[in-house]
Amino acid sequence: MKVKDLGAPLDVFWFRLPHQPADGVETGGFVDAGGLLVSIYRGSYWQCAHVIPKGGADAIRAAGLPTWRASVAKLAPMFANRMEHVASFDDVKLLSVQVDRLERWYRDGLLCIGDAAHAMSPVGGVGVNLAVADAVAAANLLWRPLANSEVSEADLARVQKRRAWPTWAIQSFQVFAQNNFIAPTLNARGQVRAPWIMRHLQSIPVLRDLPANLFAMGLRPEHIQSPDAPV
Ligand SMILES: Cc1cc2nc3c(=O)[nH]c(=O)nc-3n(C[C@H](O)[C@H](O)[C@H](O)COP(=O)(O)OP(=O)(O)OC[C@H]3O[C@@H](n4cnc5c(N)ncnc54)[C@H](O)[C@@H]3O)c2cc1C
Repeated sequence: MKVKDLGAPLDVFWFRLPHQPADGVETGGFVDAGGLLVSIYRGSYWQCAHVIPKGGADAIRAAGLPTWRASVAKLAPMFANRMEHVASFDDVKLLSVQVDRLERWYRDGLLCIGDAAHAMSPVGGVGVNLAVADAVAAANLLWRPLANSEVSEADLARVQKRRAWPTWAIQSFQVFAQNNFIAPTLNARGQVRAPWIMRHLQSIPVLRDLPANLFAMGLRPEHIQSPDAPV
């Protein structure tokens, strides 16, 4: 099946750090020349995403764990006192980022949804949302033909038709953010500033909530319509 590759200038090291009472629970974003770190509160620990240049993992590993720990501590000083909790690079999972989508999501007898149809960038953390929305749309459109054991290619095409547009729109936004904000930061030397659009979004509450709503709810929210939907 033909894949349209949209490209990604980044990879991500995922790892966990312990949460400490004084930390608070706000999602954190740390930006400096050459790196970005996002920390997500997960109850007892921080899920951390260290964004690195595409293909940069081997060089970081070769430089050694202490050098990597120091670079993360410099990026996010609040974690400097606990970087030793990452005992080895076995605790650091590499996500090799891809952003792509199938030109056609189906064949006779086969339908691809979620990551199988479209690998999403980690920008916005939307991979799960889109996968679940695809599944709900597929259930809504296919429960009747499935119950009659008559699923045609046209039925499968309807699922792609419904989900292709929100996928395209979110991927377009992600690629824009990757190329205009993330890649320049990863390639920067010296001081970097958060992009003006982010600074303005932060200061105007209505605008600040827009991206969160866009990513959390999606552009085309799906609701279960099959007869066994919970009431
Ligand atoms: C490290 C990491 C962090 C991520 N963080 C986030 C995040 O914070 N937020 C977010 O929204 N997304 C995140 N994602 C992306 C998210 O995990 C995916 O977008 C999402 O899981 C896609 O769902 P899916 O059902 O399409 O595929 P998957 O969740 O990959 O499900 C596919 C399933 O099929 C199974 N399978 C594969 N082959 C076979 C086979 N031959 N037979 C039977 N079963 C098989 C697999 O074991 C798997 O359980 C992250 C991804 C990674 C790798």
